[in-house]
Amino acid sequence: MAARLGIIAALGVMLLVAACAPRQQQPVPQAPPLPHGGALMIWPNRDPIQSACLNDLQATGAQFELIAQAEAGKNGCTLQNGVKLIRSSLNLNRPVELTCPMALRLVQFEQEVLLPEAQKTFGQPLAQLNHAGGFTCKTMTGNGKRISEHGHGRAIDIWGFTLDDGGRISVADHFRSRGREGTYLREMNRAACRYFSVVLGPNADSAHAKHFHWDIGQWKRCGA
Ligand SMILES: [Zn+2]
Repeated sequence: MAARLGIIAALGVMLLVAACAPRQQQPVPQAPPLPHGGALMIWPNRDPIQSACLNDLQATGAQFELIAQAEAGKNGCTLQNGVKLIRSSLNLNRPVELTCPMALRLVQFEQEVLLPEAQKTFGQPLAQLNHAGGFTCKTMTGNGKRISEHGHGRAIDIWGFTLDDGGRISVADHFRSRGREGTYLREMNRAACRYFSVVLGPNADSAHAKHFHWDIGQWKRCGA
């Protein structure tokens, strides 16, 4: 009995010492867990959160190169954690520069919506995404002062897609058409509102009569 009391007393003292001990320095914030349970790889000149995005992007099979942080930043434009996307889940008509989170969102939308819906609609895979630019240092349409989300690499303009058999689907030619190309384009732009904060197209305004604008900026607008 005495021995047991002794152990309890010793435990009490230990707890008291632990409670009075100076607080340990907080560890570096942990990046979100990787979807595939892989180890976190820290990329050159990227912090853990940025690296986590890059790891996730790499895990999708996308091909990309890092853009040096210092290269952006002219005229108020920024490109944080920028990547030059060479190939998403699809071939691209040309590489596109985006932030990693925007590139990741695009690939996610392709894999979850664009690709399976193309297979259902056309009975064949989508081969290529045709875009008109991601990161470009320009001001907003209709507002000459505010920097567009393109100026931060958080937006992409899409003018169409190419099917596996070479068939082209373009916003300019097919968005208003009654055929399956038109249906596909209209449905995809509406679905984009679930993945992006601002979605614009021919139904939004005349500036977007020939392309879709998808971005992950702070504003919310579904102009599909
Ligand atoms: Zn745009």
